Amino acid sequence: MKLSKKTALLFLLAMVAVAAHAGDRVKWKMATTWGSAAVPIITASEKVAEYVEQMSGGEFTIRVDSSNKHKAPMGIFDMVKGGQYQMGHTTSYFWKGKDINLMPFTTMPFGMTAPERMAWMEFGGGFELMKRAYDKYGLLSFQGGNTGNQMGGWFKKEIKTVDDLKGLRMRIPGFAGEVVSKLGVSVTNIPPGELYTSLDRGTIDALEWVGPGMDIKMGFHKIAPYYYTGWHEPGAEAQFLVNKKAYDKLSNKHKSILRNAMRLAAYRMYIEFYHMNSEAWATMKKDYPHIKVKTFSPEIMGQLRKITNDLVAEKSAKSPLFKEIIASQRAYMKKARAWTIISDLDYIQGK
Ligand code: CA
Repeated sequence: MKLSKKTALLFLLAMVAVAAHAGDRVKWKMATTWGSAAVPIITASEKVAEYVEQMSGGEFTIRVDSSNKHKAPMGIFDMVKGGQYQMGHTTSYFWKGKDINLMPFTTMPFGMTAPERMAWMEFGGGFELMKRAYDKYGLLSFQGGNTGNQMGGWFKKEIKTVDDLKGLRMRIPGFAGEVVSKLGVSVTNIPPGELYTSLDRGTIDALEWVGPGMDIKMGFHKIAPYYYTGWHEPGAEAQFLVNKKAYDKLSNKHKSILRNAMRLAAYRMYIEFYHMNSEAWATMKKDYPHIKVKTFSPEIMGQLRKITNDLVAEKSAKSPLFKEIIASQRAYMKKARAWTIISDLDYIQGK
């Protein structure tokens, strides 16, 4: 069979396209806040790299550098912004000192639980607001996995009254740190890998980390046996930061693969944390009977809530975008919480 000139040309073009496609190898690097030998690995970063490689058939690979390698657990924002890394895995509230508008995308005290937050991000305008907040830095931010409700932290002594918090040195990042500092707590944000040593050496008297699944492995209970229930991170979400220029250079196919891989890794992290916490809680009381699980008194909780609201009002007055983000979160939470209560809570309480 003789090919027409037109068919032959189309065939040639198709061959060129295949050849170009085969050469379209993309190699990225991701820096994470996590990964010190002292910290159980947060797996979403490794998983996203694995999924991207699988889905792209090896065309697109991501090398994951933990903080052991890059030595800058709190430098992820700058390294991705500067293009040293095409992406990072971290939490947005670490950058509240750079820009207050970035803070609410991880969690807010007395804010949304994980399902409420995830629904807000996807369907309630959260993602669009996050995009606007990061735009001026040449960064894109995506949901990077939710830890679920976090515990209030480990304390060396029992905290019965507001006065017991005065003078306490505590690691508690994000907005919650500002809230407790108004009650006289001296707040520091120590990189995850240095937490145990800081508590052991008495550099700090208390800390919050995540929940039993992560905390028990860190060994905090050996030094600070009072374990309080949470108020400050009701659904803390990690973020994938992506350098926008690098992202824009990706083919549409690779963009789609990356977005879907991040989404899958984030979902996996949420259920992984739920699983780890359930397992750890089940064995904790048997293995470590000296741990005393406590809840802050209504007096303390009332103060924490009042200060949270005062600080939100203060910051809203300074930043219109912060005001808009918080208003969006609170309006969404009002609707979603009514449903959470009538569905999950009523069901669990057996009404
Ligand atoms: Ca935490």
